[in-house]
Amino acid sequence: MPDASLHQLRQVFGFEAFRGEQAAIVAHVTAGNDALVLMPTGGGKSLCYQLPALLREGCGIVVSPLIALMQDQVEALRLLGVRAAFLNSTLDGATAASIEQELLAGELDLLYVAPERLLTPRFLSLLDRARIALFAIDEAHCVSQWGHDFRREYRELTVLHERWPDVPRIALTATADPPTQVEIAERLQLEEARRFVSSFDRPNIRYAVVQKDNAIRQLRDFLAGHAGEAGIVYCLSRRKVEKTAAALVDLGIDALPYHAGLDAETRATHQRRFLREDGVVIVATIAFGMGIDKPDVRFVAHLDLPKSLEGYYQETGRAGRDGEPADAWMCQGLGDVVLLRQMIEQSDSGEERKRLERRKLDALVAYCETMRCRRQVLLSSFGEDYPRPCGNCDNCLEPAETWDATVAAQKALSCVYRSGQRFGAAHVIDVLRGSDNERIRQFGHDRLSTHGIGSELDARAWRSVFRQLVASGLLEVDAEGYGSLRLTDASREVLTGGRQVMLRKEAPRRSGRERPSRG
Ligand code: ADP
Ligand code: ZN
Repeated sequence: MPDASLHQLRQVFGFEAFRGEQAAIVAHVTAGNDALVLMPTGGGKSLCYQLPALLREGCGIVVSPLIALMQDQVEALRLLGVRAAFLNSTLDGATAASIEQELLAGELDLLYVAPERLLTPRFLSLLDRARIALFAIDEAHCVSQWGHDFRREYRELTVLHERWPDVPRIALTATADPPTQVEIAERLQLEEARRFVSSFDRPNIRYAVVQKDNAIRQLRDFLAGHAGEAGIVYCLSRRKVEKTAAALVDLGIDALPYHAGLDAETRATHQRRFLREDGVVIVATIAFGMGIDKPDVRFVAHLDLPKSLEGYYQETGRAGRDGEPADAWMCQGLGDVVLLRQMIEQSDSGEERKRLERRKLDALVAYCETMRCRRQVLLSSFGEDYPRPCGNCDNCLEPAETWDATVAAQKALSCVYRSGQRFGAAHVIDVLRGSDNERIRQFGHDRLSTHGIGSELDARAWRSVFRQLVASGLLEVDAEGYGSLRLTDASREVLTGGRQVMLRKEAPRRSGRERPSRG
């Protein structure tokens, strides 16, 4: 049939054709079946429930954790002539009551609700009296305890299925890693639902990682390739957000800070300026970004390690939604790894969670240090096979030069050993380079046989060696989180000369992409 869904797609949304899996998903849900949709940010998830809601009788109930996102979506839908509304804490009683009346009168196609509101006995009984087309559970990864967006109320959404077993449910997320997928299916009782997994590749995003040296200067050089363009710079702490934003403003860049410590009004103003104006750079903690739909974000820069590779993929996924070239750039150093390890070890989480977080951090460090195509590494961590090197990441564009670092690695490892495996990289490097400072004398490390055996490399080169040794498992950072280095089982092989160590040469890389300057 020249089917109704295609007709609506063109008539209502003004799109010529479905994208990727959209057509199959829409058909599946419209027919009354459950679905679990995994699609990258910008892939077109909203349509997958909006269209079935129009095609089925009754109102589609959309559970969404983000108030700002709800409002934007509802506004956009109304402009298209769709009878949409939202219910959340920002509405006054009278407005909320009139929306409820519309729902009961069958005058709504789509109703967005915050989970905590949906779950109130009052609202559930209201739904009993309404005709429901479907339930859409947006940002479904919020049900995952291990994710960074965990929302307790999401756990209770199983009530929807129990109370209305015949109403189709569609859960959607851009979180790609397989364990989270399994957890979503279990927690939402969607094991039987058909899964629609789209490719998570974002071909227009160019990935690059540089080794941290002087972060602000490196960021400045990177931003020089993005003059006048909108982008997001992520930092780990509020303090660093403030500092970085101020430094960028000093450089004449239209930068604004965003973090949970700012009052709501300032945050809203900064977000609005970023969305509406051209060329605003937001410097933010990860508090910023979920649900931000700005198509022309040209870059996402990380000045600190993100929390996990999936987190990184989501954060960088905010760049280039319009399909035009965009950069995902990260500036990373061993200190970040040590800091994140400390945060894991010193947290109150249970052992199971800590183990999981350590594994996530390891995957992230491996991504940073890889000499392979970064896209291949990223996608394979999401269980997706990318057949050939992508040609659009730093490692593809400028393959790393390697050097035989076996001797340097032996020196490094034996120096860690001789100094008692109780010190961090900075101190061990001082010993290797034969420095004469108070700390060295205090511990008698000027008398070690390894004192001064590494003067052929400068401190920066040694930092690179240590970072890569940690990343490749030839050294480990202590679990207590003080940053001290210890040998591993694999170290022995190197020390006994049984293993060659090839490391990446740290040539000062061009940061970012080369662009013709704009007039
Ligand atoms: P997601 O929720 O997966 O991040 P959205 O639903 O916000 O993605 O869609 C991303 C963008 O793609 C939006 O601007 C949307 O209008 C557009 N879009 C979605 N489906 C189509 C389509 N079939 N054809 C053209 N544009 C589409
Ligand atoms: Zn590549």
